[in-house]
Amino acid sequence: MCGIVGYIGNRQAGPILLDGLRRLEYRGYDSAGVALCGASGLHIVKKAGRIDNLRQAVDAAQPEGTMGISHTRWATHGPATDENAHPHPDQGGKLVLVHNGVIENYQSIRDQLAAKGHVFHSQTDTEVLSHLVGTFFDESTEKDGTQRLVGAVKAALDRVKGTYGIAVMHAELPGVIVGARLGSPLIVGLGKNEHFLASDVAAVVNHTRDVVYLNDYDIVIITREGYDVQSHQGTPAEVKVSRVEFSADDAEKGDFPHYMLKEIHEQPQSLRNAMRGRLSRDECTAVLGGLNMTPRELAQIDRIILAGCGTAYHAAMVGEYLIETLSRVPTEVEIASEFRYRNVPANKNTLQFVMSQSGETIDTLAAMREGQRKGIRCLGIVNTVGSTIARESDGGVYIHAGPEIGVAATKTFTSQVTILTLISLLLGRIHHLSSVDGLEMIDELEALPDKIVTILKQADKIKAIAEKHCHAEGMLFMGRQANYPVALEGALKMKEISYIYASGHPSAELKHGVIALVKPDMPSVFIAPDDAVFDKNVSNIEEVRARKGPVIAVTTEGRTELERITDDVIYVPECPGYLTPILNVIPLQLLSYHTAVARGCDVDKPRNLAKSVTVE
Ligand code: GLU
Repeated sequence: MCGIVGYIGNRQAGPILLDGLRRLEYRGYDSAGVALCGASGLHIVKKAGRIDNLRQAVDAAQPEGTMGISHTRWATHGPATDENAHPHPDQGGKLVLVHNGVIENYQSIRDQLAAKGHVFHSQTDTEVLSHLVGTFFDESTEKDGTQRLVGAVKAALDRVKGTYGIAVMHAELPGVIVGARLGSPLIVGLGKNEHFLASDVAAVVNHTRDVVYLNDYDIVIITREGYDVQSHQGTPAEVKVSRVEFSADDAEKGDFPHYMLKEIHEQPQSLRNAMRGRLSRDECTAVLGGLNMTPRELAQIDRIILAGCGTAYHAAMVGEYLIETLSRVPTEVEIASEFRYRNVPANKNTLQFVMSQSGETIDTLAAMREGQRKGIRCLGIVNTVGSTIARESDGGVYIHAGPEIGVAATKTFTSQVTILTLISLLLGRIHHLSSVDGLEMIDELEALPDKIVTILKQADKIKAIAEKHCHAEGMLFMGRQANYPVALEGALKMKEISYIYASGHPSAELKHGVIALVKPDMPSVFIAPDDAVFDKNVSNIEEVRARKGPVIAVTTEGRTELERITDDVIYVPECPGYLTPILNVIPLQLLSYHTAVARGCDVDKPRNLAKSVTVE
């Protein structure tokens, strides 16, 4: 959510910052701005809307400077206007600040500063922080300019409540940028005689792959020559240089018109990457060393909690089904944003998994910290290496899906479910799955990527179905058992990118209310694989048909009888029931993608949405 990019070096900062912001666009934003510091002083350019608007304004103003900070804003306080866009100067206009997060006590500080004569030009919470840092800077008697700025930042941060990732610079200190974080991600990019600050590595990976992930309460000073991380709490900061695994090319679209389509097509490979080195044919089980748990410790686990938000929550719901079916360990799924406000019972044999693509989702992070406060062992299932959840968890499994830029999650869903299948295999083998069962599961898992290729080949057919229904008033998604969460995920995709209202339901729930919505411009998508409840789904399809509702079915190859009672059938290859969610979701991803394209929607940057939700 929102993006920060800062640069200090010997090159012109403007193009570097604009390029960095473009690479962070996927995080979601509604306005953008830059501040440059050069020989002619401080220049601020900011604009509501897309980065192209900002680029035009920058081209017109031609600001110069070899140091600067920039921002894409996802509005929390005040609408998306030029004035509310960051950077925000202080009262004197010499200090400038960008901020990701929320300052919860901004109103009282604003009132106090206003009483002293401060004039505010925006409705944001952020502007208060900039004035506060500026006030402490102006009042300081410290002789060393850098120390004066760091001291002012610390003093201001002591006064605020909330979350922040910030970057600050002062016109009179042309060799230093100060950054700090609490709850919002910030990294330092290490170059040669140049340094970067950014919300995530995607912004800097075309300049450097050496980065330092900052921790909460860290304050960093970057100069042309170096960087210094201090802890705001007075304890020594832990500094570790990490090497970014992916290159700038991995985060480009290639020949695909949208990132989302590219990522849908990457799934055969992302699944292989999720499984690579983690399946042991000798022991007929999964090998997940990152869990940091022995089989004996795992055998003692009598309750599992899976927490996530959005798509990760749906993957967790599939996980509940998988773990309980294959290992019989009682499992519960929690919406991460609710977890810390509930009082979830736990004991020493409870194990919690927190699931987040970015590893920065604030609610999921909070759920993990609450679990840890309760003494629960918390493991992460994340994509982004070095992210906060990856660092603070007691262990976990990377899904290794590579950068996911499309706001609507696709490949990370199937990779998360794959990892949960590996966890189910591991726990199943500890409890009651035989080596023969384990080996069979390994065979089936390894066959999945090729089966996905078969589904992707039907893209044109799915596109035609999407075009037929793209003006529907709404859509219903129905599934049973582990495919109920797939119905939820299909509906979420449809809402996110095509803005068609959609909802997911267990098929049998139809009669308890949803059937009232069925009519000719309200198609129903049934996920009806060839399983024990196939006939039940068929009855539900008939009920919809009887009320003139169009039906699209996703079923197993060979179940051709559905063609007689539905408008369209999409076939997926046969696989065991517990693996069907991974295959069945793919036609639904394509259906939402092509519906959104047919409706002329901005697929990769859907309105109001952010990729990584770092505010509560
Ligand atoms: N709360 C700040 C604002 O509304 C920052 C939002 C963001 O994280 O982009 O301006």
